[in-house]
Amino acid sequence: MGQKIQAVKGMNDLLPVAQKDFKLTADIWQAFEDAITAWARRFAYRQIRTPIVEQTGLFVRSIGEETDVVGKEMYTFSDSNDALSLSLRPEGTASCLRAVVEHNLLYNGPQKLWYMGPMFRRERPQKGRYRQFHQVGVEALGFDSVDADAEVIAMCADLWQQLGIGEHLALELNCLGNREERAAHRAALVVYLQQNEAILDDDSRRRMHTNPLRVLDTKNPVLQDMVNAAPKLIDYLGETSQSNYTELKSLLAALDIEYTENPRLVRGLDYYNHTVFEWTTDKLGAQATVCGGGRYDGLVEELGGKSTGCVGFAMGVERLLLLVQEYGCLKSEAAPDVYLMRQGNGSTAVAMQLSEQLRRVGLSVYQHCGTQSLKAQMKKADASGARFAAIIGDDELTNNTITLKDLTGQLGQHTMPQSDAVHLLQQWKTTNGCE
Ligand code: ATP
Ligand code: MG
Repeated sequence: MGQKIQAVKGMNDLLPVAQKDFKLTADIWQAFEDAITAWARRFAYRQIRTPIVEQTGLFVRSIGEETDVVGKEMYTFSDSNDALSLSLRPEGTASCLRAVVEHNLLYNGPQKLWYMGPMFRRERPQKGRYRQFHQVGVEALGFDSVDADAEVIAMCADLWQQLGIGEHLALELNCLGNREERAAHRAALVVYLQQNEAILDDDSRRRMHTNPLRVLDTKNPVLQDMVNAAPKLIDYLGETSQSNYTELKSLLAALDIEYTENPRLVRGLDYYNHTVFEWTTDKLGAQATVCGGGRYDGLVEELGGKSTGCVGFAMGVERLLLLVQEYGCLKSEAAPDVYLMRQGNGSTAVAMQLSEQLRRVGLSVYQHCGTQSLKAQMKKADASGARFAAIIGDDELTNNTITLKDLTGQLGQHTMPQSDAVHLLQQWKTTNGCE
């Protein structure tokens, strides 16, 4: 026997059943994907799917060389006979905008887009943090006014409500201003950090010059007082930025969306300006951020397109589903409606024909395969979680009947003509099924 090969650390299999250290199942995942597709449709956003591999330069240019994601978390390799450096995508916005610019989609006017799929970051794996994880993202491209910012935030709130986790997620909001405002703040911040250089840790000292805003994001408890007293970006915002921010807040209030302003919220990717926001939970330990986003007006231009107002967000599917699984609601349809069992000469073809008829009227039918006693088959039917067992034994075969047994016991067991059973089950499905 060959040695067993294991999955790559931090990359999970999605199985029909929960695993010891990874509780999400493929069924809840599928239910979530269905819910997301319907949700995006309700907001009239269109889907975009891009490749998982891109030129490394795309991420360097958009996310920023100095960020953790590009600096140390990317899976990068060169195509074997090509000097071109490629990377597995660590997030979706860069690819989405690359595709939009490449195919000139904005020529047709603004675009409201969404995507869903795996992302890759070489991080230390732990609950809620993986090396292959999944994001659902939304990008509203070609919109300058804050109603678009309010819309994407409202989309999140709508989804949380639908998934039954609204009460466990809190919205944090900040305004990063425009380039000039940030530059003025940055200059003041660097002076302030230099004055406090003696107490900075190595990370902060390094970032002080490369990306001083990120120092404000430090988790080091020793630095919290210093960080709290640092110059605040909000004090450097000009009139237009201020009034946009005020309008956004009043739109959120009108939509009954609660938020806390967090002047230290900067986000890990370089491309944001004006609005930034995060949805966090206190239910997932250190992996508290479930969704993050904001405005990135300069990014399309950075990637070779025309200057375009853009706002969007990405949510982590694993974190969200861990929350949904524990506190929310998402109906997943794992069990079949009917477990069809049979015994006796010639019963196989009849049973298979019946299964087909039942499937045609919308039922999920588990067809028993193999030769086992009816008793053994009944055990399997019970274990399958099916609502009904449908039995074709010798008597049923002779009389063209079928026996239906309600496995919950509520409706008992009845033998009837096969056509009646199809009709009955179809009726049951339309009145009681989860469609
Ligand atoms: P964190 O601070 O937790 O590292 P981030 O700021 O790096 O998150 P973003 O790049 O904003 O995350 O990605 C959006 C969302 O994707 C996050 O809020 C999170 O829910 C999810 N996410 C990011 N990295 C991972 C990961 N390694 N494993 C699982 N989910 C992740
Ligand atoms: Mg991160």
